[in-house]
Amino acid sequence: MLSSDDYSDQDIPDSSGSDLENSPSISAEESDEDVPTLQDVSAGELALRTQLATWKIDNHIEFSKCDQLLKILHAYHPSLPLSTRTLVKTSRTAVTLKTIFPGKYYHFGIAKGISDTLLIMHIQELFVNPVPLCVAIDGVHLINSSRSQFWPIVGYLSFIKDSPPFPIGVYHGFSKPNSSNAYLLDLVEKSQRLIERGFFFREKLFSVLIKSFVCDAPARAMILCIKSHSSEQYGCARCTGFGRLIGNLRTNESFREKQCMPHHHCRTILENLHYLDMVLDVPLDPIHLLDLGTMKKILTFLFGTDRKGRNVPHLTLHHTIFDQIDSFITVHIRRFVSRIEFARQPRAIIVW
Ligand SMILES: [Zn+2]
Repeated sequence: MLSSDDYSDQDIPDSSGSDLENSPSISAEESDEDVPTLQDVSAGELALRTQLATWKIDNHIEFSKCDQLLKILHAYHPSLPLSTRTLVKTSRTAVTLKTIFPGKYYHFGIAKGISDTLLIMHIQELFVNPVPLCVAIDGVHLINSSRSQFWPIVGYLSFIKDSPPFPIGVYHGFSKPNSSNAYLLDLVEKSQRLIERGFFFREKLFSVLIKSFVCDAPARAMILCIKSHSSEQYGCARCTGFGRLIGNLRTNESFREKQCMPHHHCRTILENLHYLDMVLDVPLDPIHLLDLGTMKKILTFLFGTDRKGRNVPHLTLHHTIFDQIDSFITVHIRRFVSRIEFARQPRAIIVW
């Protein structure tokens, strides 16, 4: 059972959440009051309901089409509801979206996500208290031809093997949030409340600590309100150096005291989480720093020209060697890289 105020169950859409905004309320005519309650339904009929609901959601079947099917099936299975909305348990409460300029934000809740995950994973007893939570943040474009984008906040219980990630909050807009602190406000406030009050799981009280924020380099800079990793000066997340100079190592204390002022745009709301190490608990992202960063720079030097075709007066490899490398990457390696697991396919060096 859950008890924290963090749970906004009445605002939470069911698995059919994607359909919810189009159907925020249901009229009395659409209700299935004559249909038996779930307690009266046999296990076989319940399984049929679940399978139909999953089929409808997975295949994006229109409500009207599914309603027609339910009407046909109802003659043979009277316990089935007549309305698709009852079948997929669409919430009858309108979802309240919060305005975070220039878009909208919805907060699903932290404790609800944790509790649901524990139930899905059939966890009988929790042996960790406080519960360590990993939080991932990134931006995703919904379609290529538009700037429409999601900025989801996702939670993950890394101490449970094969634990699925769960949504904590999601922002939608046509550019990223103007203020990262406004975007993170609900997350920070609710996680602070979870430290003070905790949440109940199987009648025991647990608190929650965010042990890390997992982001790529641009998202990391956004949530920490610091300079981009590609800034020419003070962009390094680990030291105060700039250019080719290595400076003093950044620490949690030096970050919070803003000892290197040019590194910070403003104070991040994440500093309200007093237990968080602002440097080490927000790990670095190897794709932007190494693969697209250092490795790209090394290849540029080896290739002898930069992306704009300008000559770079450094060590240059013979073009036949590049042809060999390119064919190795694009012919031999590429076919083993799954499009499902990797968004970025291997490309020839010349394309860089
Ligand atoms: Zn550095």
